[in-house]
Amino acid sequence: MKPLASVCVYCGSSDAADPQYLDLATRFGTALAQRGMRLVYGGGRVGLMGRVARAAHENGGQVLGVMPHFLARREITYEAVPHRMVDTMHERKRIMFDESDAFVVLPGGIGTLEEVVETLSWRRLDLHAKPVVFLAEDGFWDPFFHLIDHTIAAKLTPATFSAAMLSASSIEACFEAMANRSVG
Ligand code: AMP
Repeated sequence: MKPLASVCVYCGSSDAADPQYLDLATRFGTALAQRGMRLVYGGGRVGLMGRVARAAHENGGQVLGVMPHFLARREITYEAVPHRMVDTMHERKRIMFDESDAFVVLPGGIGTLEEVVETLSWRRLDLHAKPVVFLAEDGFWDPFFHLIDHTIAAKLTPATFSAAMLSASSIEACFEAMANRSVG
């Protein structure tokens, strides 16, 4: 099985998020660095995104940010780590996808949902088999899982698709889930 070298994190850009979510981002960035895994993320210094990147970097981890030029001011490029600057949101997502072996979804808003739903939709089309793990310590993602179950109950999504959406309520469980599902 191929070892996980690069992990993409999708997460919120809001600094006003619940402190427990900001703290989870810090702890997750630290854990990535401690395991020698590179963080791939959307660039920037704000919200959970900024926390995860700063923690990974300050603990000696490798980080790649992918930032569209037009967002650099709004999301404030985190200059301490290397960034690929791109022109569009599509390019950003494509590079984040290509550069990663697995995806972890921390609490986030509409942008986070947009990113992970595209990754899941590519999985649904069998375009990849990379693990996608939703990590929250308080059930933050439960309503999203309920929504997917609802589409399964309506026979609009195959029941087998639930296996593509992993859930973890601790950082340790998240790494175990990724390791068990990584593709060779
Ligand atoms: P949010 O969860 O709304 O705070 O957004 C998290 C991140 O997703 C932010 O960096 C947004 O810029 C990013 N984002 C929002 N929409 C898209 C998109 N269509 N493609 C790529 N990134 C996006």
